[in-house]
Amino acid sequence: MSADPNCIFCKIVAGQIPSRKVHEDDELLVFHDIAPWAPVHVLIIPKQHIATMYDTDERHTAMLGRMTAMAPKLMRDLGVTNGFRIVVNTGRDGMQEVPHVHMHVMGGPRPWTKG
Ligand code: IMP
Repeated sequence: MSADPNCIFCKIVAGQIPSRKVHEDDELLVFHDIAPWAPVHVLIIPKQHIATMYDTDERHTAMLGRMTAMAPKLMRDLGVTNGFRIVVNTGRDGMQEVPHVHMHVMGGPRPWTKG
């Protein structure tokens, strides 16, 4: 599985940087964001290094579908039952800071910032 030695999320996947893991399987890792925008804020990432959504195509359809499909269960399991937001920042103008594809999933009692 491809990894970028300079990528902070690849280091989390490799266990070189600690994280508060919520879910892990062969393909995906889910962990709490270190600077949450909402009471519950997790990141769903592919374990393989993919820099941005621009680097995905039809070959990634199933993986991207799994990322989206797991969000409701993740939120329910974390006690979020009144709604949540999904955000995928992409590229510089898309305000992506960490160049490893990640899906923000955010919920919990309002008010909280829209990010
Ligand atoms: P982006 O702006 O969409 O790239 O979001 C990157 C997210 O990664 C931000 O919400 C950061 O708080 C989060 N983040 C950066 N480093 C870490 C870390 O080491 N652990 C958990 N979350 C992180």
